[in-house]
Amino acid sequence: MTTLRQDSAGSRAKGLPAPRAELSLREGYHSPQVAVEVRLNTNESPFPPPPGWLDALVEELRGIEYHRYPDRAAWGLRTALADLHGVVPEAVFCANGSNEVLQSLCLAYGGPGRRALTFEPTYALHSHIAHLTGTGVVEHDRRDDFTLDPAVVAAALAQVQPDLCFLCSPNNPTGRADDRALVERVVDDAPGLVVVDEAYGQFADWSAIELVADDRPLVVTRTYSKTWAMAAVRLGYLIGPPAVVEVLERATLPYHLDAMKQAAGRLAVRFTDEMERRVATIVCERGRLLNGLQGLGMTTWPSQANFILWRPPGDADAVWQGLLDHSVLVRNCSSWPRLAGCLRVTVGTPGENDRFLSALEAVA
Ligand code: PMP
Repeated sequence: MTTLRQDSAGSRAKGLPAPRAELSLREGYHSPQVAVEVRLNTNESPFPPPPGWLDALVEELRGIEYHRYPDRAAWGLRTALADLHGVVPEAVFCANGSNEVLQSLCLAYGGPGRRALTFEPTYALHSHIAHLTGTGVVEHDRRDDFTLDPAVVAAALAQVQPDLCFLCSPNNPTGRADDRALVERVVDDAPGLVVVDEAYGQFADWSAIELVADDRPLVVTRTYSKTWAMAAVRLGYLIGPPAVVEVLERATLPYHLDAMKQAAGRLAVRFTDEMERRVATIVCERGRLLNGLQGLGMTTWPSQANFILWRPPGDADAVWQGLLDHSVLVRNCSSWPRLAGCLRVTVGTPGENDRFLSALEAVA
């Protein structure tokens, strides 16, 4: 299909230049956005944010000086997040989604001639963003049960000498969290910066934020896209040493956070109690889903996130399609490396989870 004119002077047509090779994302990574009744494929919150937040935001939007650039330092937002986590605002860096936080980290600490280390399977964007920024990527494996083997991690750090080491806890797409002793050991052994991606941190029973200190090479990334129920807003942040935050600010474009987004994120923190209630409901539903999956004969792995990785005994593609035929969409990971036959389901509302379980019973 053509959307523009065809070059009529055929003999002079040169064709278009090839883009950088790093731009090709792993086949099948993007989840199809199809219209279904039950969408359990992208780990969003199944509940919208509280109406009080929206009312406060609408009120705030009236007061913005739209003809002026926004607060470049996003100080109000960073102060609200600093209060939430018991740190100073200088230890908070914000960007357009935690993916952009990861990109800023790679721009600042990666780049040509530098290396990032990942433990697979893990969040695909860690290696993808590293590649995009010209950073070399070295992948090591998790154990078969998707936990990290401390000996493998120590050997990898010694051998690769990474400038950036990515951990993901709880890990997407496996759901498993790393324990505190392991993260401490990685931070002690790593020659470069350790990034703990805690996009699902509120669902877990501990956070690496408690380990962040001025002189420790550790940053912890968080997002508004999951527990805060604000995926549409595109806002993420990290907590790290102020000296690292200062470096990251040099890697972002001026005024990269618009005034509306800053207000949305700042106001959301006032509704922390509601956020925690959503988390409690989802954690409870996660237990129910896990039991349901096991009761239907599925292989599962323990999850500290808002999703569960599972493997049906038969053909995973057929199960995925069968669920879709029942208007239930889950993530098909079965073609991803090290995840043969696996599917991932996001914890939904109690009604959505019932729909998922009864569709699975009919399909599997
Ligand atoms: N990290 C992990 C582990 C994720 O799963 C996601 C979302 N899929 C992100 C980061 C990116 O989140 P955001 O919407 O904040 O860019």
